[in-house]
Formats: sequence, C-alpha cells, structure tokens
Amino acid sequence: MMRELWSDCIRSIEPYRPGEQPQIGQIIKLNTNENPYPPSPAVIDALREAANESLRLYPDPEGMVLKQTIADIYNVSQENVFLGNGSDEVLAHTFLGLLKHDLPILFPDITYSFYPVYCALYNISYQTVALDEHFQVNVEDYGQPNGGIVLSNPNAPTGSALSPALLRYLIEHSRDSVVVIDEAYVDFGAETALPMVKEFSNVLIIQTLSKSRSLAGLRVGFAIGDRNLIEALNLVKNCFNSYPLGRLALAGAEAALKDRNYFEKTRQQIIKSRDLLAEELVSLGFHVVPSKANFLFVKHGSCSAREILQQLRQRKIVVRHFPQPRIIEYLRISIGTPEECAELVRALQEILG
Ligand SMILES: *Cc1c(COP(=O)(O)O)cnc(C)c1O
Repeated sequence: MMRELWSDCIRSIEPYRPGEQPQIGQIIKLNTNENPYPPSPAVIDALREAANESLRLYPDPEGMVLKQTIADIYNVSQENVFLGNGSDEVLAHTFLGLLKHDLPILFPDITYSFYPVYCALYNISYQTVALDEHFQVNVEDYGQPNGGIVLSNPNAPTGSALSPALLRYLIEHSRDSVVVIDEAYVDFGAETALPMVKEFSNVLIIQTLSKSRSLAGLRVGFAIGDRNLIEALNLVKNCFNSYPLGRLALAGAEAALKDRNYFEKTRQQIIKSRDLLAEELVSLGFHVVPSKANFLFVKHGSCSAREILQQLRQRKIVVRHFPQPRIIEYLRISIGTPEECAELVRALQEILG
C-alpha cells in the first residue's frame, strides 16, 4: 500500500470505533446511547428559522450567545464556558491542552474507549487504574503522582456513578493536576460536580447535548471550569478550527437548553424506563450493574453475551458488545422508548427460553 505517504504518527494508530449506525430500516437501535425521544419541538423551530441566507456568513467564532445561555443555566460566568463540536472535540482539545505532561495521566481500565485513542494521537502517556470487582472507582487508587485524571461520571460503559463525597475526596487529593469529569450522562440521575468548579481551579466538567438533549446529530458539547483552564482550551481551538459550531448548531443548542420542561419530561421518562427494564432483566437472570445513565450494563447468568447479541440482531435489535478482557460477557443496552424496552424484553424471553 501507500502508507509511506502517511505521517509516521498515524501509521499504527487504532482509532475509536463508534457503535454502528445501521442503514436498514425497522431496527430497534439500542447500541449508541442516543436519546429515544426527538429533540424539543423548539429546536426544530429554531433550526428552521436559522436556515436562511445568513448561512453565507461564518458563525460567531466564540458562540457568545450560547455560552451565555450555558453560563446562566449553570450559574457560572461566560469566561468559564468552552464550546465544541460535540464533547468528543472538547475532550480532544482537553487532552492536548491540559493533559500532556511528563507524568502519565490516569483513567479507569474500563471507561470511555476514546481516552486511550486521544493519548495515542497526541502521544500522551497514561496509566489505567483497575475498577474494583463491582466496576466501581476506588478513589484511593488515584493518589500517585500523575499528569491528570480523567473520569467519566457516570462511567461508560458501566453506568456507575461516583458519589459527590468520593469525587470531592479525589479532587481534594489531586490539587496538582487537572481532574476532568466527563459528565455525558449526568442528567440521568447522577449528581454533577459543577459546584466544585468554583472551589477548585483544577476541575474541568465536560457535558454534551448528544444524550439528554436528544441532539447527537447536531454535535454540541461544552466544558465548564476555571478561566485559566478554559483559556488553554481556547488556545487549542484557535489553532485548530476557529468556527467549531455552525450557525445551525448554535441556534439548535440554544433552543434545546432553554426548553427546560421538555428536558425534564424526557429525562424523567428515561430514568423510569431504565429502572423498570433493570428489574425485568434481573428477573430474566441478568446481573445488572446499578446505572445512573441512559443505558444498562448487563451479563446473563448462563447465556453468553455473543449468543444474545447475535440472537437479538436476528430480531432486529442492536445492542453494544465490547470484546475486551473483564467485560467480554457484558452487553450495554441503551434505554429506548417504553415500547422498545418491551420489545427487547419479549425478544430476550424468547432467546432465553
Ligand atoms: C457519548 C459520549 C461522549 C461524546 O459525546 P458527543 O458530545 O456526542 O461527542 C463523551 N463521553 C462519553 C463518556 C460518552 O459516552
């Protein structure tokens, strides 16, 4: 092949592989933690209104209006907010701008599998810290000198959340490095670490509109932290892409954040469906990791994950499997509508006899 034409640094890189987006119709898609509900109708209206001749012009490079909306909702100042094209981009800039040091950064052995990919891309040294046998973070294990700490809370793909008290303990004992909390799923029942941003200048919170605001297709994420941390992110952004959010994304995100009623209604429904599905799966013989996210991480007592995966697929239900040590027998199931959850339970009853 022609790999000599490639830059050295990407020749052996293993990219992140997102869950598939099947092109076939009529499928129950429970594999990428998208929200089963559509975005707020106010978002669609805002997008229609923004789809006009002004698309000729570049968007506001700083996304000031959206930043101020986020600042108002989370009770911080606009200088504490950073915007990105999905939180994956915010994470990428964070790894480059705040986590590349001599000492290795730390994150759990089982977590969002994008983290090691950013480390490989940016040549950042890291060390994984094993979750305990119940897939919980042991905060004592993060005491060693490090170049930074990244925790997804609730964690992916387990759904487990760390209590605010333990999170505070970890942050209090890590004052010399940046602690990044990836809160992609926080709106489904965990407690946000946002109040700690005011107390600790080394804490960066990252959130996304992809999950709890039903906007995975629009690509909007943000970070909140001390101005000093945000300044580093702005520097990276302005060396990479001055206009990460287009006019449509800015308008849609703004409308989504302002429709609090819709947000409350849909997230409560997902929490309710999750807790009901967890009970049903337990009665079908699954071990279910307690979840504060919009998905469940489950293992069956006798039937293998691969078998269930395949049988579900034949019934046009797609869930996620991670062929990695420790979790090879687990499946991650996104929470669908009540009808989709019922369909899943019916299929599992059939498969498990
Ligand atoms: C989904 C997810 C993201 C990425 O979300 P986008 O904003 O869509 O890029 C980040 N972190 C975790 C843990 C996720 O599960």
